[in-house]
Amino acid sequence: MDLFEYQGKQYFARFGIPTSPGAVADSVEEAVAKADELGYPVVVKAQVKVGGRGKAGGVKLAANAEEARQHAQAILGMDIKGHVVHRLWIERASDIAKEYYASFTLDRSAKLHLCMVSAKGGVDIEEVAATDPGAIARRHVDPVDGFPLEAAREVVAAAGLDEAAREPAAALLVQLWDCYDQGDCDLAEINPLILTTDGRVHALDAKVSLDDNAAFRHPEWAEFAGTETEDPREKLAKEKGLQYVGLDGEVGIIANGAGLAMSTCDVVEQVGGKPANFLDIGGGANAAQMANALEVINADPKVRAIFINIFGGITRGEEVANGIVEALGRVEIASPIVVRLDGTNAEEGRRILAQVPPERLESRPTMIEAARRAAELARQRA
Ligand code: GDP
Ligand code: MN
Repeated sequence: MDLFEYQGKQYFARFGIPTSPGAVADSVEEAVAKADELGYPVVVKAQVKVGGRGKAGGVKLAANAEEARQHAQAILGMDIKGHVVHRLWIERASDIAKEYYASFTLDRSAKLHLCMVSAKGGVDIEEVAATDPGAIARRHVDPVDGFPLEAAREVVAAAGLDEAAREPAAALLVQLWDCYDQGDCDLAEINPLILTTDGRVHALDAKVSLDDNAAFRHPEWAEFAGTETEDPREKLAKEKGLQYVGLDGEVGIIANGAGLAMSTCDVVEQVGGKPANFLDIGGGANAAQMANALEVINADPKVRAIFINIFGGITRGEEVANGIVEALGRVEIASPIVVRLDGTNAEEGRRILAQVPPERLESRPTMIEAARRAAELARQRA
């Protein structure tokens, strides 16, 4: 679960990470009232779960109430990369001497945590990584060893942070580790981490992603729920208990098993199609599951064709075929379907599927042929 900046800063505060005093506001009036309380100058910040708010005009300094009003008016309702701003974070403005970068995340390929610090903060870190990779100091962290102050001092020095910032930045980095580790984050990122003109180091931004697998030991995370901006397709899939990930393409995909579902996405891409989703229907693939899966894919307005890719193991081919036929009776499907059914009792399954009119459903004997046909149908119906 991704947090809004203000929630990330609240989370940081639990671990002692310094941030600026601030308050949320959902209207222009509330924004001005909060700004008056905080004292000027303030920063008016769009709360959306997407980066680059500053560049998009979603972060503005206000020297007085009149400016706070103007900025709040302009930013509320603004569309930032498809995210509409419904909430503002107003905070006391900082006098910035330097902008740095600091983060902890999981390096899956190394099977270790990764700490990254850079003296080049405030800008897009992916761009720094691409154009000036030497400007980012990296250090892997073994969860058994943790991240002691000595390690923090070394990273901060390697990153070339200004002398005045090093000790407070190292202390903050240890707190950020505690937040990431004890707080069960997938990502805890501060960009920019600033050195103020009066020599303090604190977090000016917060990007926190919580590890949903750890939710069971964090009842307090409930306060963050409900503010999620979820893909409506993923929401529907979750309600129906399906393993679904929304993608951008036109070919809806249903497969049994996560590995096969991923391969299906790859093969559709390979033949020039674009997958609309990843969907693993699981082992059973019975009529109810198939109907649920078809319903979720049917609700995606971008879908032009559907590719059902089933390899029967324990699930027998005729069960799957009956499931599909029954599901088609329950749900009115807008797109043509291409099925590749193989494995146990596949022939019997294909015989059952042959009863469905070809304009609604076609079978293909192999994965690649089925992918080609689905991609072709999607193109024809674009
Ligand atoms: P992002 O663009 O979504 O990453 O939003 P940030 O919270 O990182 O803000 C973007 C930029 O706005 C920062 O890099 C700063 O340069 C500037 N900014 C944010 N808060 C303040 C502040 O309190 N004072 C000043 N002077 N600039 C700020
Ligand atoms: Mn930022």
